[in-house]
Parts: sequence; structure tokens; C-alpha cells
Amino acid sequence: MIKNNDVVYIQYTLSDQAGEVLEKTSSPIPYLHGHHNIFPKLESMLEGKSEGDKISVDLSADEAFGEKRDDLRRVESRDSFPDDAQLVVGSQFEGELPTGEVAIFTVVGMDGDKVYLDGNHPLAGQPLHFDVEVTSVRAASPEEIAHGHVHGEGGHHH
Ligand SMILES: [Zn+2]
Repeated sequence: MIKNNDVVYIQYTLSDQAGEVLEKTSSPIPYLHGHHNIFPKLESMLEGKSEGDKISVDLSADEAFGEKRDDLRRVESRDSFPDDAQLVVGSQFEGELPTGEVAIFTVVGMDGDKVYLDGNHPLAGQPLHFDVEVTSVRAASPEEIAHGHVHGEGGHHH
């Protein structure tokens, strides 16, 4: 039974509202339960489940990557980038927001001297559907609990 401070290995398929598969795990991915390392609704639905259990969860955009934010769309001039910057559609740059958060901005268009950037997560604004299978559950080590994440294979490394 999954409870706080368990290391849970899951396989999942992530689909959009139309049922198109966006992402599918090829091997089990571990997370530390009860430490908000996955979407809160997904985490609470997995609470109490056991090895072999399967669940389906629908997340609104808000419960997943959030709504698209206009303040994350920017227009900059080419001059504001370093000379050696690769300015093509799809290039990504780190940028700081007025709040101090760091976001990854993707170049979504260019027009003359203007570079159009979008710092929204590619899946922001979308409801998502998860089909999840619990493949195994183990107790976390005291070190993993202290760090708030999984160590070892598939986890963080130190
Ligand atoms: Zn650690």
C-alpha cells in the first residue's frame, strides 16, 4: 500500500484530450511518494495503491502544467542576444522573470529584427490524461527522505 516516504515505480502513458499519446515510459520511473515530486492529484490517487494496480487520472490544465500565461510571451530584438546565439525557431534560452523565477523560453518566430519567445511549458493550457501502472513499491532510505527524492537507478545521483 503506497504511503508517504515510499519509493514508487510507475509506468505511464500520457495522452491529450483527443486521446493522442504524448509520452510513454519505456521503463519504470521512480518517485518519492508524499514529497510533491509529481502532480498533486496524481499523487493523491496513487495513495493506498499496490504493486500491479492501474489507475487513470484526468488532470485539468490547472492541475497539470497550468494555463498558458501571456506574461511568458515576449518579443526581443536580435541585438539583445549574444552574437553566437543560435536564433532559429525551436531554439531555447533561459530567461529570468520579474518574479525571479527562471523559465525556459523557446523561439516561436522571427520577423526582421524581432524574435518572438514563449516561456510557457509546451503542455501548458492542456488537460492531460494519465494511465498509470504501479510496478513496484519499496521503503525509501533515510537519506532519500532527507533529500526529498529518489537515489540510485532512475533517481537523482550525488
Ligand atoms: Zn539526494
